[in-house]
Amino acid sequence: MSGKKKNSFSEDKKKYQEVVAAITNIFEYLGENPTREGLKESPARIVKSWERLFGGYLQDPKDVLTTFKEDNVVPFNQIILLKDIEFYSTCEHHFQPFIGKAHVAYIPENKVIGISKLARILEIYARRLQIQERIGNQVTETIMTVLGAKAAACIIEAKHLCMASRGVEKQNSIMVTSSLKGTFLENPKSRQELMSLIK
Ligand code: ZN
Repeated sequence: MSGKKKNSFSEDKKKYQEVVAAITNIFEYLGENPTREGLKESPARIVKSWERLFGGYLQDPKDVLTTFKEDNVVPFNQIILLKDIEFYSTCEHHFQPFIGKAHVAYIPENKVIGISKLARILEIYARRLQIQERIGNQVTETIMTVLGAKAAACIIEAKHLCMASRGVEKQNSIMVTSSLKGTFLENPKSRQELMSLIK
């Protein structure tokens, strides 16, 4: 990890105090008494929870991937797929969670990575302020550029709480996005094989 990257959001004490004060202000805005027992520690608790929820800002996917450089092999032309990766993200339009699962796949050229790294890449991008479409695109972009893969795919199914909380009829809607690159995009047979593996 590079030297200038933060290890924690609370490193900047002044900024931290300002953010805690801002959340206290929001409670007042809602008509609450921020000094009452149940609420007085909440701003600090909320900021602390962001270390995990938005931990993706503290990490660079390239740091995760380059560590496995020496494990390079010459693989055969095959799909490597990690299915049903659960994830948690936050909608950048409403600051509300969206949760679901993703399927991440690639076809290597001459570099492979440990399969758990596919989940790590997803995690790093998901734990930021996001839209679902961008997460998929960032995951496939990273796999294509850092690994020099022949193909990459990230299919995401998620429930958006910003939708669910605003209307009963949308409680169970699932949004599906599919980011495909390389041969998954160009070759229908390759794409078909991927889809049959995911089903
Ligand atoms: Zn939203």
